[in-house]
Amino acid sequence: MVDIRSVHKSFGPLDVLKGIDLAVRAGEVTVILGPSGSGKSTLLRTINHLEKVDRGAISVDGTLVGYRRLGDRLYELPEREVLRQRTRIGFVFQNFNLFPHLTVLDNIIEAPVSALKRPRKEAVETARRLLDRVGLSDKADAYPKQLSGGQQQRVAIARALALEPRLLLFDEPTSALDPELVGEVLDVIKDLAHQGTTMIVVTHEIGFAREVADTVVFMDDGRIVEQGPPADVLDRPAHDRTRAFLSKVL
Ligand code: ATP
Ligand code: MG
Repeated sequence: MVDIRSVHKSFGPLDVLKGIDLAVRAGEVTVILGPSGSGKSTLLRTINHLEKVDRGAISVDGTLVGYRRLGDRLYELPEREVLRQRTRIGFVFQNFNLFPHLTVLDNIIEAPVSALKRPRKEAVETARRLLDRVGLSDKADAYPKQLSGGQQQRVAIARALALEPRLLLFDEPTSALDPELVGEVLDVIKDLAHQGTTMIVVTHEIGFAREVADTVVFMDDGRIVEQGPPADVLDRPAHDRTRAFLSKVL
């Protein structure tokens, strides 16, 4: 479903991704762990072309992200095409990124109506169903600032789902939350996992990784150090760097 091949990315002199190879199968949950600065967010951002790769290629569902191949050359897609591709890949950020001047309902229907040209009535029906799914049916008319962080993040998840993405990317979805609000957001993500949503989740929540991940990936210094089932990577890590990291976060 997601195929990442020898991806390299630098910012000026700083090599942030130093050859990443990763495959994610449909319906599976991949959790990415790693120290601050190891390149986790940059990797997620390359998957929907928020960052361009310098070398390598990424495809989602067999379609190259951000480029078209003609013969043996790659040509960058026009912005319009990139935006269209991006509507099929949901992205949930650490800081929710809701539109503050729109109600919860309008936050959710904005992209389906403006980007996908869905009829408003249909988008509203979908939004209400999604709000129900994340346990917020009573908050449709609230504004983001009237909600707790956990509620805002659940709205952000509903908003991502409204585009019916084939892939969901989460970048530390609970790290801006007060500890007592973490569980409600993880529960929604777990629910999605059990329904077979393909997801890549950057998080430091080891318990969540152990319970939900099909594959745990440990990144350090722009490389994947090891990857495998949670029972291997979390309980029997093969590398010292993984052990050192886990001893700090566990
Ligand atoms: P954290 O756990 O703190 O979120 P991370 O693993 O997500 O870290 P990245 O955000 O991918 O790390 O950043 C990796 C490195 O790339 C860091 O050194 C960061 O400063 C640098 N970096 C990221 N984005 C940019 C940018 N747009 N311009 C320059 N440097 C950047
Ligand atoms: Mg990050």
